[in-house]
Amino acid sequence: MEDCIFCKILKGEMPSHAVYEDEHILAFLDIFPHTKGHTLVVPKKHGETVFDLDPHMREVLMSGVQKTMERIDSVLHPDGYNVGWNHGKDAGQVVPHLHVHIMPRWKGDGGGSMHSIIKNPGDEKPEEVAKLFM
Ligand code: 5GP
Ligand code: ZN
Repeated sequence: MEDCIFCKILKGEMPSHAVYEDEHILAFLDIFPHTKGHTLVVPKKHGETVFDLDPHMREVLMSGVQKTMERIDSVLHPDGYNVGWNHGKDAGQVVPHLHVHIMPRWKGDGGGSMHSIIKNPGDEKPEEVAKLFM
């Protein structure tokens, strides 16, 4: 997409600091890192969310994430990771080109877990929500 900043990075029209690259993904350092080595794994084909991924890309994205983590592990030796993505504006997605955040974590770094993103489960108990899936 013409005005997509991550497509521009993929085309080399904007600079980035690459961490890992293969034929399907480019992983580069986040420009406003939340932890040392905060990395974004970006599919080379534009799509806004995982729902836009073609079946092949669905299969290879996780492999790209794992290889990027192995690279970070060998260079920075963190104690752990938070890995995930913001899907949709209301969940915090700002750049409309799918990207998986990899945040390396260190013992005592003061951060939380995925559970610290939100605690607002609504009034229905899990048993009631489960009925909707039947
Ligand atoms: P989102 O909120 O969409 O999940 O995250 C977008 C991320 O992209 C943010 O963490 C932001 O710092 C990062 N970002 C935005 N623009 C650029 C850029 O031009 N270069 C790089 N490397 N990261 C960017
Ligand atoms: Zn794009």
